[in-house]
Amino acid sequence: MTATPSRTAGNAEEIHLDLYIGGAFREASSSNRTEIRNPATGALIGSAAKGTREDMLAAVDIAAKAFDSGAWSNLDALDRGHILHAIGDALKTRLPEFAELETRVTGRPIREMTAQLSRLPEWFYYFGGIARGLEGHVKPFKGEYLNYTQFSPLGVVGLITSWNHPLLIFLKKLAPALAAGNTVVVKPSEIAPLTPLLFADLATHAGLPPGVLNIVTGEGSQIGPAMCAAPRMAKLDLTGGTDTGRRVAGMAAERLIPATMELGGKAPVLVFDDTPLDEAVNGAAFAGFIASGQTCVAGTRFIVQQTIYDAFVEKLVAKVAAFRLGDPIERTTDMGPVISRKQMETTLEYIESGKSEGARLVTGGELANLPAPLTDGYFIQPTIFADVTPNHRIVREEIFGPVICVMPFTDEQHALQLANDHEFGLGASVWTRDVTRAHRVVKKLNAGIVWINDHHKNDPASIWGGFGSSGYGKENGWNALHEYSKEQNVVVRLAPDFPDWYGGSDRYS
Ligand code: NDP
Repeated sequence: MTATPSRTAGNAEEIHLDLYIGGAFREASSSNRTEIRNPATGALIGSAAKGTREDMLAAVDIAAKAFDSGAWSNLDALDRGHILHAIGDALKTRLPEFAELETRVTGRPIREMTAQLSRLPEWFYYFGGIARGLEGHVKPFKGEYLNYTQFSPLGVVGLITSWNHPLLIFLKKLAPALAAGNTVVVKPSEIAPLTPLLFADLATHAGLPPGVLNIVTGEGSQIGPAMCAAPRMAKLDLTGGTDTGRRVAGMAAERLIPATMELGGKAPVLVFDDTPLDEAVNGAAFAGFIASGQTCVAGTRFIVQQTIYDAFVEKLVAKVAAFRLGDPIERTTDMGPVISRKQMETTLEYIESGKSEGARLVTGGELANLPAPLTDGYFIQPTIFADVTPNHRIVREEIFGPVICVMPFTDEQHALQLANDHEFGLGASVWTRDVTRAHRVVKKLNAGIVWINDHHKNDPASIWGGFGSSGYGKENGWNALHEYSKEQNVVVRLAPDFPDWYGGSDRYS
């Protein structure tokens, strides 16, 4: 099996990649592989190795040796920053290639992938910059003492990532983990591992020492627990579903190692009647249908003021019914397929449950019929249910597909009650022209990331993380750098002599 892209006679370029361990591609101990297929056409894109438990333990071992060597962990933070900048620069040059590959793997339109990936070098510039600012503090301490804190890396950290934004989710964890001086083992989603693997090779060529970044592909249920249980694993950072989160957090708790859990969501979008209707509808379409709804902060519960409810629903239906579904590789495509047959079947099952529980289907609700070569793609019409109630399954559970729910509210209190009546607390947005109301409402929302008159926006400096069943811990910003470091307190006696506690003196009292 080749470790680099290979052209197969008569086919488009296929990409077959092995594990990435110790600064090079390396064959897995099993010959099993996962085929990666384009969800829009079914065409084979390539494959990744199905790593085993032994491969995972080997990767952790190599990461531990790399950490202990000090080649990265002891490097001056300024020099680590230079390498992170070089990685950001190298990534910039490969963005069109990575955007195209992510589009083929996930089915997300190229327009979305290009916009998303164009921001990723910033994570390396930002964390490369603040790495040097990871300063301890001098703290007061009663008596003749100097009291200070200092930071050091945790050791080997494990990143487990989901399929919906393969590079974004990986890199927003990786940049702070590296900036803090850790070495890393990554378990990407089994169905979207190609861009993370190619990125690892890019990082090595940009100057990252071998063994600092290792990727083991394969089935999460097999190699995930091996990663979590590896004795040298010093932290686990997962983006995934809430059930996986409970399992991984449970293992971290057993090991008493820190964990960051970026889990599911069911973001409410509160629309007040002073928002211009066109803006509210454009915002709602953007919030709900980017990535065919396959994002953790996708707007899914639209809570709309009664006074504009009917007009809002009518205009939103017209908007999404005009979406151009098609080949995601075309720049004119607005919405692509969902990523897999499993995701398609789950979404259709939720649509049926919405219908049978009495929600009003106002548009969509079916598979989309598209011409060849898209006939077998996993395309679902953008779907809107109106007049939902908080008890409907489509309101309570994360669907992760192009399906949104709309419900009316009477006043601010009612809007908040509907928004907060949920186990998830990840994203939310509030749309209003009334600045005092916006801040009043936001303060009472149970959501870790809130936008006012916007949605989805992300930045390396802006903290990201949820409450409740959406998990805990923060990505981005200083929080992430701190969460990838350990802070040690140092108490220094300044007095010239050390009293004899057992010598009858009262000086300690
Ligand atoms: P999963 O929970 O199915 O998988 C996430 C990752 O965990 C994958 O790499 C998976 O491997 C791995 N995994 C599975 N089982 C285990 C295990 N027992 N131990 C360790 N690792 C394991 O999520 P999806 O990939 O389906 O992603 C969708 C979910 O991610 C949604 O719930 C979404 O809300 C959430 N998400 C959260 C975000 C946030 O910022 N809070 C952002 C984006 C998504 P494998 O693929 O091989 O099964």
